[in-house]
Order: sequence, then C-alpha cells, then structure tokens
Amino acid sequence: MTATCPRRDDATRVLEPPAASVRTAVVVPLSLAGVTATATVMTFDGLVDGREHLLIGLGDWEGALAGARAGGPAPLMRPHSECLTGDVLGSERCDCGPQLREAVERISEAGGFLAYLRQEGRGIGLYAKLDAYALQDAGLDTYEANAALGRGEDERDYAPAAQMLRAIGAARIRLLSNNPDKAAQLELLGVEVDERVATGTHLTAANARYLAAKVERTAHTLALPGRG
Ligand SMILES: [Zn+2]
Repeated sequence: MTATCPRRDDATRVLEPPAASVRTAVVVPLSLAGVTATATVMTFDGLVDGREHLLIGLGDWEGALAGARAGGPAPLMRPHSECLTGDVLGSERCDCGPQLREAVERISEAGGFLAYLRQEGRGIGLYAKLDAYALQDAGLDTYEANAALGRGEDERDYAPAAQMLRAIGAARIRLLSNNPDKAAQLELLGVEVDERVATGTHLTAANARYLAAKVERTAHTLALPGRG
C-alpha cells in the first residue's frame, strides 16, 4: 500500500524519497494555548536529512487511516516547520504560534497528523532567522532578508514529511495549509493530496508585513484586508 503503490501520474516525475520506519510512538497529553489534545508522538529511523522530525497523530488518527484505506476521506494533515520564536515564545512577528494551535485543534477534531519539521526559519536556522529579522527591521521583507544573508528564500524540504507519512501507511492526505507550494512538493514526493484545506488568517499589527509578503511572494491564499 505504500512503497509499491502505483504512482498516480508518471508524467509528473514523482521522486519518492527512500523508505523510513517508525522508531517509537508515545502518547503525550497536550495543552497548547487553551487547546487540549492527546497526541501520539512518533519518531523515525531513516529520515533523509538525519534530523529529529516528528509525526504527531491527533484525534482518531488510526480511524482516519483505516477509513482512508477503505476508500473514505483521507486524514487531515499539516506540515508545520519549527519556529522557536513563534511556537514557544509566542512571537507576533509571524503567525506560526496561532497556526500551530489551530492545526492541533482542527486535526484533533478530524483525526490526522501534524508533521513537526525541524527546519527553523524556512530552513536557514534560528540564528540566521534572527539575523534576517534585523534586516527586516532595516526595511527588507522576509524573503529579501534571507537572500541578503546568502540563503534561499525558502530552504524547506518536505521529503522527511513524505517519508513519515509513507512509514505509517498514509498514502493520501487532505492538506491543512494556505501554501500551494506545500501541496505541489508533497505530490512530487509521492503523497497524494486529495484536497487543500485553508487555515484561518491570524493577522496582528506585528505580523501584517510578514503575511503580506507571503501572499505577494509565494501565492499564499490568505484573506488580508484590502486584498483579493
Ligand atoms: Zn514563525
């Protein structure tokens, strides 16, 4: 059902990463900014970049997997890239904290997975991200600042997310994201994205410029005031 599954469309040049396997699965009760949930936190052997990424099962994820295998709707899934400042410190310079909270709440209701990906600062790392913040304070947007540091606008790689999904037999998902590029990348990595489910817009005075850059530079589907 996983590695041997016939590819949906050979013309799209699907490049499946190597197989990974579940290493451990532990149950952790969560309380996250007012949302309570029970999480099954899974670790893996064989992830391509050697980092300690997590796949977190929420709600009735086992039922959602079984339902999908029987031809029902695919589990809801969100790839969330680590953001220490937003996720842990509650920084309002980005919308990662509210996005994480919303994802835990919605996936817990629907049954599915949150992939917590250790690629801070769109993959450039924590210190470099803070350097980029300093450049943004000097007038660059979030993408221009990464470029000024000699880094890619976005260095994130979703291959480990695809590996983790495949390891637990999640051949198809409903993707909780406003980012069309995430859907395209997961499809290229061999994950069938049945549907892209939009998240809310978490706009504050402090992150308005950051969210506007997401819409202008990477076609995020966010409803911002004064925009289509
Ligand atoms: Zn963030």
